[in-house]
Amino acid sequence: MTTTPLTHPTPLSRPTPTPPTAPDADLLRQLTDLEETRSRQLQAFPEADLDAVRSARRARAQRDLRDVRTALVRLAEGRYGICTGCDQPISAERLEARCWTTTCVDCAGRAAR
Ligand SMILES: [Zn+2]
Repeated sequence: MTTTPLTHPTPLSRPTPTPPTAPDADLLRQLTDLEETRSRQLQAFPEADLDAVRSARRARAQRDLRDVRTALVRLAEGRYGICTGCDQPISAERLEARCWTTTCVDCAGRAAR
């Protein structure tokens, strides 16, 4: 009996956007670790807390967790390092300092105002 070699179906051709920075395993691990850490921190805070300091920390952890998750999604989509506010590349220095950041300095400044 002769076997016909299985032909692999031609992969659907879809445009692959070139990410500004190649998704790298270290970054992915770093973000995944951060997500875990922030989730744990968030769970440690009670939902409704009248203590202003704890309440502020909780809000901070919540914001960071949201940003880390957004960064993970953007990494998967090949849009990591592009500002969600203005679609411009985020500076390498900023990404190095806050790898989960999703906005450039200008947009972060505007959001804080
Ligand atoms: Zn921006």
